[in-house]
Amino acid sequence: MNIALIAHDRKKDDLIQFALAYEPILSEHDLFATGTTGQRIVDETDLSVTRFRSGPLGGDQQIGAMIAQDEMDMIIFFRDPLTAQPHEPDVTALIRLCDVYGIPLATNMGTAEVLLKGLKEGFIDWRLLGERRE
Ligand code: PGA
Repeated sequence: MNIALIAHDRKKDDLIQFALAYEPILSEHDLFATGTTGQRIVDETDLSVTRFRSGPLGGDQQIGAMIAQDEMDMIIFFRDPLTAQPHEPDVTALIRLCDVYGIPLATNMGTAEVLLKGLKEGFIDWRLLGERRE
């Protein structure tokens, strides 16, 4: 599965803790991340990550493009609900595309844990069924 990991600045410490806690599950998948989040994951865990641009510079849109191309299977996006983001339209667009294509999306730690446990149990294997969309 292709999994995207994104965290706003004040949520990055939480995402690192999450990535460390779930490293055994995450390491079995192909991971993608926005620039700064990805750099921290690479520096602070043993996980390999494909990094896109930083979120405010287009990274969220790059991940959104993967969703539109049916190349992304899960998004874990620790949003900061208390801080205005300069790229809020991009954040909204990414969440919208998850809903358009039915891609599992977690925007906080509680849901992310459920998603990864579900992933381990095979609840998301339907993503592997059938042919990719044209
Ligand atoms: P960043 O981007 O990982 O480059 O900080 C995340 C975001 O703000 O969308």
